[in-house]
Amino acid sequence: MQNPFPPAHRLDKCNGCGLKDGPLDPCSTCAHALYCSKECRRNDWPQHKPLCRKIHRIDMHTFHVFLACFGHHIRSEMAKENVAMNHVITRYQRPIATAPHLVHLSNTPCQPASKVDDVSPAWYPTASSTEARQYLWKRISSDCSAFGLHLAIAISLLAQLYPASDIGLWLNGAAVTDFGLAFGAAPALQQNQMTYTYNGGAISGQNPSRHAWLYFTNTSGETATLDLALFSLNCGLLVSTTGFCDGLDGIETPPRFVPAVWRPVDNKQFYVERARMSVLRNAPLVKVAAIVNSNVNAATNIRIARYHPGVAEEMFTHLKSGLTGVTIDERMAGERLRVVLVWATTCAFQLRDVVVRNKSWYRWPKDWTGAIDYDPEDAENDCAKIAKAFNSRQHAAR
Ligand SMILES: [Zn+2]
Ligand SMILES: [Zn+2]
Repeated sequence: MQNPFPPAHRLDKCNGCGLKDGPLDPCSTCAHALYCSKECRRNDWPQHKPLCRKIHRIDMHTFHVFLACFGHHIRSEMAKENVAMNHVITRYQRPIATAPHLVHLSNTPCQPASKVDDVSPAWYPTASSTEARQYLWKRISSDCSAFGLHLAIAISLLAQLYPASDIGLWLNGAAVTDFGLAFGAAPALQQNQMTYTYNGGAISGQNPSRHAWLYFTNTSGETATLDLALFSLNCGLLVSTTGFCDGLDGIETPPRFVPAVWRPVDNKQFYVERARMSVLRNAPLVKVAAIVNSNVNAATNIRIARYHPGVAEEMFTHLKSGLTGVTIDERMAGERLRVVLVWATTCAFQLRDVVVRNKSWYRWPKDWTGAIDYDPEDAENDCAKIAKAFNSRQHAAR
């Protein structure tokens, strides 16, 4: 049974005395109730206990792998707009000092490959090997707006997961009480930005110094981060999707390994965080999520955000007001922001079926396998080293 209002709205007062002002701490067991004092917590326990006990806990340790599959889907959708996917590459220049990676494109169109095994030599004829060609394709097909990708996923969580009164996200053994987007510099060198030269001009790819990623905070105050947009910046950490993506409907089954950088405790060592935007506590985004949610639950269809002008306009208005003050990734500005709503709806649709209805996480593997992908011709580049450092800490942190 779903409550149409996420906790951001529902949880605005002490569950004991009804007090609305002052600091309110969540129930440390479930985070589905707030309290002003220990006394209120104790007095309310007989009423709260049955609800508290029946909360299903989705552990971020494995849930992030499922979200990584959404990331793969969204990046693939974004890649369709990249001119480098459907034009012949005449030359690929690795960085000299701090200059970016340069991909020179001809005006000759080329059939885009939809998966790595279909990458044709005709697309990048001068590649030194099949592996080098495939690695470049993987980077280009991952080159996306980190902001748009993570925002869509966060809105889908807000839409489908948070209204469910009996499901809670779990991080390091404690309930998640906030999540949203963090902004700052990615753990990648500036020269790993891609630049595409095409038709006399230059198009910049994802900028590592204007990066965005997801954060999740629990009742113990620990923050975990999930970054699904580092592959195009040459940081090739992957997670195994086997066993995590059964039941996905209407989106392409992801490959066996997809990019994801998960930090269960903190990422200060690698990232330079400049700002944070809570999505869970953002009232206009809660409205966007409520509309996404009603569309998905009414099973109207997932394309409503694109094809129903009235609904789309209402969502877009709330979205823009929710993002006031956010320096939006230049690749996601203006009208292109609308497409975030389509992705959010698609992800929410999957969340409803796989997670909320089927509770599939009970059948997911208890652990996941990580892997690292490298540029075969530059296996010792700095980003590969960062990925290795990440990987050892990713495991050590558990
Ligand atoms: Zn109270
Ligand atoms: Zn509780």
